[in-house]
Amino acid sequence: MGLREKDVTSAIINCHTRALNNCLSSDVVIVGAGPSGLVAGSILAKKGYRITMFEKRLAPGGGIWGGGMGFKFIMVQEEAIEIVKDFGIPYERHDTSGLYAIDAIAFASGLIFGAVRSGVQIFNLVTVEDLVVRQGRVAGVVINNTFVHMNHFPIDPLTIEARAVVDATGHDHDVVRIFSQKNDVELNTPTGKPVGERSLFAESAEEAVVTNTKEVYPGLYVCGMSTAAVYGGYRMGPIFGGMLLSGKRLSMLLEEALGS
Ligand SMILES: Cc1cc2nc3c(=O)[nH]c(=O)nc-3n(C[C@H](O)[C@H](O)[C@H](O)COP(=O)(O)OP(=O)(O)OC[C@H]3O[C@@H](n4cnc5c(N)ncnc54)[C@H](O)[C@@H]3O)c2cc1C
Repeated sequence: MGLREKDVTSAIINCHTRALNNCLSSDVVIVGAGPSGLVAGSILAKKGYRITMFEKRLAPGGGIWGGGMGFKFIMVQEEAIEIVKDFGIPYERHDTSGLYAIDAIAFASGLIFGAVRSGVQIFNLVTVEDLVVRQGRVAGVVINNTFVHMNHFPIDPLTIEARAVVDATGHDHDVVRIFSQKNDVELNTPTGKPVGERSLFAESAEEAVVTNTKEVYPGLYVCGMSTAAVYGGYRMGPIFGGMLLSGKRLSMLLEEALGS
């Protein structure tokens, strides 16, 4: 049987179209494939929810890959190590400080593969540039190819419908920022707007990233580092337990909100 180039192309087009078609009406759209979103998506997908994730860069994994300042390890605290175990990611107890060391590349790839294996549909090179809003509730996302978006080409986006949308975009808090700038809305924050991220204070930041994982507007949730920008928390540096626990908390909130 001869290998035909057009068959390869046709198979790619068909598979991609089928995957995208299946996501047009998702239970949850998660924007940003960093650790918090990957954990939340994975837990929810395992429970049968239809989870779609859009990542604007080529590689999912967000801010994990570079460890701390390019040194290839990240740390996770005792409280979150069960989540690392669930993903089958290798770790090593560092010393008596309650810290566990994980190779950043194992951590990123383990979370990504765990999410995909659980059924999360991740589309990379797709930027979420706006939201769909219907009757006072966030009802979906507006997406475009990242190159189109970056180059400001005059090409219309497409839309994906969702019962809930999650801003897991990290420092950028892109989704909440755009939503707040474009609409005269009052967010569930102390000022009604994104409060802005504060400087580094790891202990406080790690706790706040979990407690500030919330519904910030009907149908719109925040998790991970974007909670710091939205609720005025501190940054924390290359310690990731809070991100994992934020993802887990988000999955519980969404399960409660969406029902079975
Ligand atoms: C480049 C970078 C540098 C960082 N530096 C620090 C630091 O110095 N100190 C610190 O405390 N934390 C830093 N962080 C955050 C740190 O890595 C986190 O602790 C952790 O990675 C945050 O996890 P998260 O789940 O919030 O998402 P992140 O790991 O931040 O990932 C968010 C993802 O969302 C994607 N995204 C953003 N906007 C859109 C959009 N509109 N559409 C689609 N996808 C989008 C991004 O490409 C990224 O992959 C950095 C993160 C990044 C990405």
